[in-house]
Amino acid sequence: MKFQVEKIREDFPILKEKIYGKDLIYLDNGATTQKPKVVIDKITEHYSKFNANIHRGTHYLSQVSTENYENARKTVQNFINAKNDYEIIFTKGTTDGINLIAYSFGEKFIKENDEIIISAMEHHSNIVPYQVLCQRKKAKLKIIKMDKNGVLILEEMDKLITKNTKLISIIHASNTLGTINPIEKIIKKAHNKNIPVFLDAAQSIQHLEIDVQKLDVDFLVFSGHKIFAPTGIGVLYGKEKFLNKIAPYQSGGDMIKTVTFEKTIYNELPFKFEAGTVNYTGAIAMATAINYIENIGIKNIFNYEKKLLNYATKKLLKIDGLKIYGNSDEKTAVISFNIKNIHHSDIGEILDKLGIAIRTGTHCTEPIMDFFGITGTARASFSFYNTFEEIDKLYEGILKAKKMLS
Ligand code: PMP
Repeated sequence: MKFQVEKIREDFPILKEKIYGKDLIYLDNGATTQKPKVVIDKITEHYSKFNANIHRGTHYLSQVSTENYENARKTVQNFINAKNDYEIIFTKGTTDGINLIAYSFGEKFIKENDEIIISAMEHHSNIVPYQVLCQRKKAKLKIIKMDKNGVLILEEMDKLITKNTKLISIIHASNTLGTINPIEKIIKKAHNKNIPVFLDAAQSIQHLEIDVQKLDVDFLVFSGHKIFAPTGIGVLYGKEKFLNKIAPYQSGGDMIKTVTFEKTIYNELPFKFEAGTVNYTGAIAMATAINYIENIGIKNIFNYEKKLLNYATKKLLKIDGLKIYGNSDEKTAVISFNIKNIHHSDIGEILDKLGIAIRTGTHCTEPIMDFFGITGTARASFSFYNTFEEIDKLYEGILKAKKMLS
């Protein structure tokens, strides 16, 4: 399919909105993405025509609802090329999936003095659950360092691995720096030592083609809301051999086979990990979002966003005193920056009045801020519905902010 941004923009109702009387320029896609009309319509259609709780009813609507939900699982399976549909667990989102693994994998496989390796550029969601686990089990968290360009120093990882290393958990693409990590290499190195690898794909799934079998990754998580689907739904992929060995993270309805007051037998995969009424409407709408982006083509999306990134990087670097954090050769379309002697949140506020939505602050990555010795950054994160004209307006807006604040 030919990539036509103007046509694509027509699919996203919110992009027609005015903010303070100005055209919305939405550059906060790292935080959440906007939704195409097909996704919004899918939610309305589900609640208007098919809604009933899944897996529980013999009646018609429950059967349709269940079928649509299980088809959504197959859509996700095909999207990331998982071997089996039951290796796809629906969660609330990335954070939920990480907590599930940190808890359940941790309970089974982590003991005193064991070690877990993460990296210097993790989102808080891929740090804190492991800190909690390490506290619980008296295990140790080790950190792969990065250089000043925001690139991981892989030789560091080699040095960190010991016979006690039980898990490596890595961000695929950094929400703050844009860095795309060399996960193929990381997975190979880890597997050579029989260490499973967990991938936080919250910022890669919407930009890069991901094939979990080709990568041979052991676990992977992402959030629906970052791939043009609703909030409150996400995915945990796990290899069957691990998911079968670990116990449920939450318990209650639907995750059981039989219950007596004396004993409960857990359900099989994937239901064992889906306690209670799951967000089946979200899963169904996420499948629509996946079909939508697959129709455009993830490669087309990546190539277009790369052009946006290159254009924006060159343009913003023309601004005197502007510094970009994250200068890896392999980047998603994210630009974190500061301007000398100006606070990032002041830039964000002025841009907001111009209708330009960017994010300011630490982006849930305080260790990255500590590394660079800063309190935060301004971050513009792009998606395939953004345009070169919007980047020009961002540039003009930053110049205006600079003039006002200097
Ligand atoms: N990891 C990364 C890399 C992220 O960017 C985010 C969201 N900013 C998360 C984890 C957490 O995602 P969620 O809030 O959807 O659980």
